[in-house]
Parts: sequence; C-alpha cells; structure tokens
Amino acid sequence: MMTGKQYEESLRKLNFKVYLQGEQVPNPVDHPIIRPSMNSVKATYELAEKPEYEDLMTTNSHLTGKKINRFCHLHQSTEDLVKKVKMQRLLGQKTSACFQRCVGMDAINAVDSVTFEMDLKLGTKYHERFENFLRRMQEEDWTVDGAMTDPKGDRGLSPSKQADPDLYVHVVEKREDGIVVCGAKTHQTGALNSHWILVMPTIAMSKEDADYAVSFVAPADAEGILYIYGRQSCDTRKLEGGTFDVGNQQFGGHEALMVFDHLFIPWENVLMCGEYEFSGALVERFAGYHRQSYGGCKVGVGDVLIGAVALAADYNGANKASHLKDKLIEMVHLNETLYACGIACSAEGTKTASGNYIIDLLLANVCKQNVTRFPYEIARLAQDIAGGLMVTMPSEKDFRHPEIGKVVEKYFKGIASVPTEYRMRIMRLIENLTLGTAAVGYLTESMHGAGSPQAQRIMISRQGNIEQKKELAKAIAGIPAGK
Ligand code: SF4
Ligand code: FE
Repeated sequence: MMTGKQYEESLRKLNFKVYLQGEQVPNPVDHPIIRPSMNSVKATYELAEKPEYEDLMTTNSHLTGKKINRFCHLHQSTEDLVKKVKMQRLLGQKTSACFQRCVGMDAINAVDSVTFEMDLKLGTKYHERFENFLRRMQEEDWTVDGAMTDPKGDRGLSPSKQADPDLYVHVVEKREDGIVVCGAKTHQTGALNSHWILVMPTIAMSKEDADYAVSFVAPADAEGILYIYGRQSCDTRKLEGGTFDVGNQQFGGHEALMVFDHLFIPWENVLMCGEYEFSGALVERFAGYHRQSYGGCKVGVGDVLIGAVALAADYNGANKASHLKDKLIEMVHLNETLYACGIACSAEGTKTASGNYIIDLLLANVCKQNVTRFPYEIARLAQDIAGGLMVTMPSEKDFRHPEIGKVVEKYFKGIASVPTEYRMRIMRLIENLTLGTAAVGYLTESMHGAGSPQAQRIMISRQGNIEQKKELAKAIAGIPAGK
C-alpha cells in the first residue's frame, strides 16, 4: 500500500490538462485551491498506516489475499459493508470534507457484479478484464474516480435524440484495437486526485442508445481528457494565505467537468460497449452503493459540525441554556438517524452472483432520501446556535492588524477564559460547513450527489412492495387474499 507521502508524489507524476479560473494549472497538487482536496484523499492513505484504524481502513484482497486499502476492496460480507460505512464516518470526522475516494470503491463494486451477469447472459468477456484491472488497482493502491453523471442536455430527450450528440458519453469509433469516445462527465468528484477513472453510463438505455451504453477505465491523465475545475463558494479565500478564514484550511473536496475529446480506449479497458440492457443495473447498483456511503461520510462531517456548535455555545457562555441543549440533542438525533440507515442497509446486504455483497437497495435509498433533508436541518440549527457573527465577523487580517487587531480581540471576546481567536476559528468553521467551500459537500451534495431526491423516490416506489402490504392489511381486516 502507498503511504500518504507516496500518494502525493504519485499524483505529481501525472500529466493533467486542467483549467481553473481561465488558466491552465501545471501543478494541481500544489495549487492552493486544489491542495486541500488532495489532502482529504491523502488522509485515506495516512489513516490506513495507523494501527488503531487498521481494521476499518484495510482488509485482505479476495483475489490475492494481500493486505489492501478498503477503498480498493470488493465487499465480501455484510460485515465488510458495515465497516465501509464506519470507515467513511471516521474519514468524515477527520477531514470534515468529501474525501472523494468512495466513488471508485462504489464503482468497482457495481461493475463487478454487472460485468459478471453480462458475461453469463451474453457470453462477453468483460468480467475477466475488470478483474485484471482490479488486481492492478489493489496492487498499486490507486485512487480510482467513478464517473457517472453526463451533462444530459434536454432532459426530455434520450441520449441519441439530443441536438448535440456529445451530451452523453458515446462511442464514436470502433477499431480493431479499441474504441474512441466523446462526451463529458459533470461535477466529477475528486477527478484530479485520481490515478484512473472508471466511466459508467448515467441512465438506463434502450436499443437506439446502444452507442451510449459504454463503460471503461482510463488513466486519469490520458491524452484526450480535459478538466475544468468547479468553483466553490468562498474558494478564493484559500488564496489569502491566512490560517482560519477558510474555516477548514487543511481539507476540502472538489468537483470538475471532465471532457473526453476522441479519447482512445484499448479493448482490454472496455467494460461495456453496446449492452444497453445492462446499463440500468449498473446505474442502480452504483447509485445504491453511493447512497449507502452517505450514511457514513455525511454523518462524520455532521459530528464535526455538532462539535463546533457545542463549542460555540460554550465560548458564548450559553451552554447552560436548556433550549440550546435541546437543539444539540435534535442535531445528534438527526445525525445518528442517518448513520442508522447506513448501517441498516449494510447489515441487510446480500451476496451477488459474482460473489461480492450489495446493500439492501430499499434501505440505501431511504438512507439517501434522509440525507437530502437532515443535514439541512442540522445546518439550520447550527446557524441558529452560532449566531450572526459567523457571517459578519471581520477577517483574520483585521484580527492580526497591529492597531485594529486589539479592537477585534476586545469586542469579539466571549467568555473570559477562551481566547477570541478560538471563538473566531469556530465561527469560521461553522460558516465553512453551512455556507462556504464545505457546504458543497455537506449540503448541496447531500441533496444531489448519488442522485437527486426524486431518483430515490422512484427506487423507493419500486422496492416498497405496496402490494404485499395490502395483503397484510387484508389478513388483519378479514378480507380474503387476492380479492
Ligand atoms: Fe465519499 Fe461522501 Fe465524497 Fe461521496 S460524498 S465521495 S461518499 S466522502
Ligand atoms: Fe458524492
């Protein structure tokens, strides 16, 4: 396995073509806006080095028996599924950000069972190719970026009916040695912190969209991939060089637009090419795994926010107020409800035909549906308790100023025993999580990541088994079954 330092160095060797705020970035690793997101992925390597987290962060490969990072693992039991959620909560607590590496873990777990079933039904050879890739991924300890979301253009039209054919990723040429693809993936989490990308279709496809039913792996810095870095609220504060105005100076997340301009993929890296009837299953399973993930990562970030709010109350001298205590209880209740959903869909997981384990899809969708709501309520309560200071407070530069610094120090003091700087730091952290760069991950991503709320409602309606519930009611009410 790689150490954190080795991971960072391995990224430096990659040759990304990336633009940020209209300029090409030659060295993403050290760019002050990008670097905190790299630190978050680096934490997935660093924690794996620590003996106290070994059980959560590492496991043994089912292919080679060797010790690997859990992010490269195919879940072999419900216990593995539970440990995955616990690992994500831990990383959320340690980074207070999106640590990005889960999309690849969720993608490999979905692709494993779908390629197996595809080969079984159609006599294709995708599963073997996938296992070859997985072996290398585990051996090299790669961060792999799972890429699913296409730009989609006119939502009322299918992929092949779009005015611009590139609005969904598609095959433009089939050659003897491989395929050529065009298109893009949007809001791609962790793109520039990944060694490889694993591309999947974004919706269930029909026959006319067969060219769009495509899945493959490619080096993240392959010729033919362009990245345009996504903005986050307050992102330029990272250019100011201070120590606390960002709120979380060390860690962050990132998303980027990933564009494929005639990207060549050799056949050994192609995992689906035209088998449209399997694209729906791939989407459903990847989304299911990622909806489980949110019952871990968002909970860990919630833990940090609850802690920050409790400290803000302490520093204000308000921690004895009963309504504040009650609000903290409510935040914990909401946060632990999300965790309960993440654990439940894992504990109820089942074995797939290929041998890895999949979560209970109904419970995973219920988990994510709650994630579209509860972090917003937790953030509302956090802002209620923190007070307006988190958005009206002067900057760190004012605080450090030789003259006016004393004024800031004097008037932003809370209880006498706590330095003003600590209070300012906590306010900025709450701002960061509920309005700043981390609000991308904690709020908007909770809403739309792994599918918007309506996507979960469709799955809940499919899996909810209302007919069986009707029969239960009939039995109790004395109505004959089937009538
Ligand atoms: Fe992982 Fe959560 Fe980020 Fe998804 S949103 S990549 S589950 S940390
Ligand atoms: Fe996500």
